Amino acid sequence: MEKTDIKSLDLTELTESFKAQGIEKYRAKQVFDWLNKGTLSFDNMLNLPKDLRNKLSEKYFIPSCSIEIKRVSKLDGTIKYLYKLYDGEYIEAVIMKYHHGISICISSQVGCKMGCKFCATGKGGFKRNLLPSEMLAEIETAEKDIGERISNIVLMGMGEPLDNFENVMKFLKLVSSEEGMNKGMRHISLSTCGIVDKIYTLADMKLQLTLSVSLHAPNDEIRNQTMPVNKKWNVSELLEACKYYGKVTGRRISFEYAVISGVNDSDECAHELGRKLKPILGHVNLIPVNDVTDTGYKKSSQKRHQSIINILSRYGITATVRRTLGADIEAACGQLKGKHTNS
Ligand code: SAH
Ligand code: SF4
Repeated sequence: MEKTDIKSLDLTELTESFKAQGIEKYRAKQVFDWLNKGTLSFDNMLNLPKDLRNKLSEKYFIPSCSIEIKRVSKLDGTIKYLYKLYDGEYIEAVIMKYHHGISICISSQVGCKMGCKFCATGKGGFKRNLLPSEMLAEIETAEKDIGERISNIVLMGMGEPLDNFENVMKFLKLVSSEEGMNKGMRHISLSTCGIVDKIYTLADMKLQLTLSVSLHAPNDEIRNQTMPVNKKWNVSELLEACKYYGKVTGRRISFEYAVISGVNDSDECAHELGRKLKPILGHVNLIPVNDVTDTGYKKSSQKRHQSIINILSRYGITATVRRTLGADIEAACGQLKGKHTNS
């Protein structure tokens, strides 16, 4: 019999599941509280009788997430974790400290299918989806380690969250529920490379989270070269979905644009971007491309960044350059895992 991941159940589902086995309702709340505290073994749930603990471990399992490597930046206090999962797979999470609170960047898959040319995770291929409980555990493990509450969550680590749609939606429900971690949706961001059908579905769910779209190019010619997903959904289809998202949710989209010297950093590119983004409620985040692969992509100069910002402002679009954090600890996702596992 395959065991059920007990931590991916919300309190109502857990109560139902217990009821089906003749276990009293109040036990569900007790177990739920233990799980919420990060307890990883039924044996440690001390207010349960031994035979119940045994019964639970036959039917359910609690996916673990332990710290394999931890690196702390001497420059800015950014922390990078390499976590080991119950089946021996590795994922990464990064903690960033800002004056407005602590943010965590979590992974949504082990690896990624999307194969973006500039991305260390994409290079390593895809292994499996993360369970909702494993995404929760990334946060819990970090909170326990630093001894502080994390206020902001970004799904911007390894993997494509909208390619693991159901589990990510379940995770969002669990992490924001009052009886669970109780993190506000307004403090959660989700980044996608542009899985267009799921952007429509997400829009209709009207969640108060922030959607980031990894655009990285103003047209199909360039985007086809760097992001294979563009062959399935092109720039105009993606931007149409973004327009819909903004209209339905009233939320501003954050467009990610990794600036690559000689690839997407010309004034013409900036004008094309400005023209296309003008009708959409959005902000542009320029990211100096991280030099992580052997593709030869290089960062642009600050002068080029400024020129792009100036041009976009003529179209009424705000753009900022994202601060690079943890430059000394390979904080960009996929880098640490790549080194550890040689994938
Ligand atoms: N799969 C999702 C989320 C994870 S990637 C997505 O693609 O949006 C998180 C962000 O890092 C994305 O914006 C991605 O394009 C960007 N990224 C990946 N490799 C990068 C690199 N070498 N330099 C700069 N940004 C990179
Ligand atoms: Fe996957 Fe995002 Fe990396 Fe592309 S950038 S390969 S979608 S993780």
